[in-house]
Amino acid sequence: MIPFIDLATQQKRIRPQIEAAMVRILDHGAYIMGPEVYALEAQLSSFCGAQHTLSCSNGTDALTLVLRAKNVGPGDAVFLPSFTFAATAGVVALIGATVIFIDVLPDTFNIDPMSLVKGIEKAKALGLHPSGVIPVDLFGQAADYDALTPIAEKHGLWVMADAAQSFGGTYKGRKVGTLAETTTTSFFPAKPLGCYGDGGAVFTENSALLNILQSLRIHGQGNEDKYKNIRIGMNGRMDTLQAAILIEKLALFPEELTLRQTVADRYSQGLADVATTPFVAQECQSTWAQYTLKIDPAKRKDIMEELKKEEIPSVIYYPLPLHHQQAYKHYPCATSTLPVSEELANCVLSLPMHPYLDEETQDRIIKTFCEVLTRVNTKFQSKG
Ligand SMILES: *Cc1c(COP(=O)(O)O)cnc(C)c1O
Repeated sequence: MIPFIDLATQQKRIRPQIEAAMVRILDHGAYIMGPEVYALEAQLSSFCGAQHTLSCSNGTDALTLVLRAKNVGPGDAVFLPSFTFAATAGVVALIGATVIFIDVLPDTFNIDPMSLVKGIEKAKALGLHPSGVIPVDLFGQAADYDALTPIAEKHGLWVMADAAQSFGGTYKGRKVGTLAETTTTSFFPAKPLGCYGDGGAVFTENSALLNILQSLRIHGQGNEDKYKNIRIGMNGRMDTLQAAILIEKLALFPEELTLRQTVADRYSQGLADVATTPFVAQECQSTWAQYTLKIDPAKRKDIMEELKKEEIPSVIYYPLPLHHQQAYKHYPCATSTLPVSEELANCVLSLPMHPYLDEETQDRIIKTFCEVLTRVNTKFQSKG
């Protein structure tokens, strides 16, 4: 089977550096909040241009830290796209606020500003306080922040960008990490920039908020005296070992982003005639966390099975929009149905995507995809 994501090739490039970094940490012994943690935070800030970076335990905790810092809780409505990974909604539900599901746009798959306006009206009609919005930069492309920010400002909403998939990308020449008051990301191994375990970060321009986040990350400790607990916090730190791994991976990241773009361009050239290839807005650069096609929903299952027979993996991100998931279906939606989220769940298909996908392997994937599609089409025609 061709790997869907290949982490081994990258590791070969930096294995000696990673081993040396591990040895340094074994020697200095600062496993928690060691010097590598602070070095990584400084490097991430300079990479994306954010004023402040707070590393943390994972991308989910990054979202929670910001929600806690903003005192979001019961009675608050938080708006987020239904077509996303469950963590974006889970954090809101866990702190007792109300999730309001918003529809997405059919081309970028990102939150639809018009649907957000309807969601805000819906929240007010339900007697909830519209608190904030979590745009998700799905599959690596930033949401349309220039359209979202004026809506948020008009209604007094905070904006937290869930950039778990898009860190490294750009939007109209600005880097992801600086597009909202706060941005969160994940360093889960399969993300475009991943460590060898769990990790995450918050980026912010707001120094006062940074102080609160630092305290919340370590049990709500005081900024002066760590045994004075001035708020209820979390254990939300990133391990020193993971920070050291990320420092080595960050060094390769700019080159890998270029390689990802090359892979995406080759896919789109090879597949544009047979499927709806991804749309990236002008002046935006995706990190290509996923390369996702739109295909005929009736044929998707057959196509996936045929690809598998040819040892080509394909994955559905995401098979069910969150407003139809058992755990979330009781939360309100902006409108009675969210037609785009519902349609996308039926027609998306993601293909193997990573910086080290060589041309030969990729050509085989493209050629096989086209052949499989012809076979499945013939089968459907003969069925009438
Ligand atoms: C991966 C992901 C998260 C969660 O990140 P973890 O590090 O796994 O907790 C949140 N939101 C989105 C959109 C993600 O893709």
